[in-house]
This record gives sequence, C-alpha cells and structure tokens, in this order.
Amino acid sequence: MSSDAGPPRAGATNPMAAEQRPPLAVLLGRALRRRCPRCGAGGIWLSWFKMRHACPVCGQVFERGESHDFFIGAYLINLVVAEASAIIIAAIMWITLGSRVSFNVLWGASMVLAMIMPVIFYPFSRELWLAFDLYFRPSEAGDVAGR
Ligand SMILES: [Zn+2]
Repeated sequence: MSSDAGPPRAGATNPMAAEQRPPLAVLLGRALRRRCPRCGAGGIWLSWFKMRHACPVCGQVFERGESHDFFIGAYLINLVVAEASAIIIAAIMWITLGSRVSFNVLWGASMVLAMIMPVIFYPFSRELWLAFDLYFRPSEAGDVAGR
C-alpha cells in the first residue's frame, strides 16, 4: 500500500488544508495517548471525563463546528467499541473457561464489562472522533481559541 492511501489530498482546491494535515496514523496515535490530536501536546484532560475547551499549546478548540453536538459521533464510537470489546472478552472467557464456570458467572461478568468498558473507553472515543474530524476537516472557522 502506498503512503497516499486515504482520502484524496485537497492540494488542488485547498493547499492550506493539505500542508497542515498530519497523517491519520499520527493523529490516531496521539488520540490513543490522550494527547491533542493536532499538535501532540499532553494535559488536555482535566479529569478522566472532563476535557479542556481548547489545547493549551496549539489552541485547537475541541468542540468544532456544531459545538453543542460535536461529540455525538464519539458516543457512537464509544458504544460500539466498548460493547463489542465486552462481548469479545466474555466470549474469550467462555471459550477458555468453558464448563469450569457456570453460565451465571459468565453472564454477570459480561454485564459488568458492558457497564465498565464505556467508562474506560470514554476519553479515547472523544479523542478518536476529534482525530478523524481533524483529518477529514483540517481547518475550520473558529478552530483556534483566541484567534
Ligand atoms: Zn494542540
């Protein structure tokens, strides 16, 4: 696969967007480390659930464009990934433990996982959504705080 995989470069119509956009793998790597997808700076989370309004280093505003419902896509990512991983973990437990554990224990464990996984995955889902959005919409009016 060539390095040009992914959406077409916007260079012909929007040269600024093309030169500012890091590769998707870089954006996703920063997101999975809970860093600013745009510049890679840390400290954008005030707590596990509370994200700063904007990056303290590059000024990227995190709720882009639509603002009040920007992170709806992140909640969808969170739901799908967290619940799928809960099902996969429960299935692995069922396959490896088999008849040594009762069905009720496996069922209870899968219910606990279904409740815990969305909490664990919450900041990553927001970061991944922001990283994808920054990749496909590199610059947007009102993106940088105070500018
Ligand atoms: Zn930043």
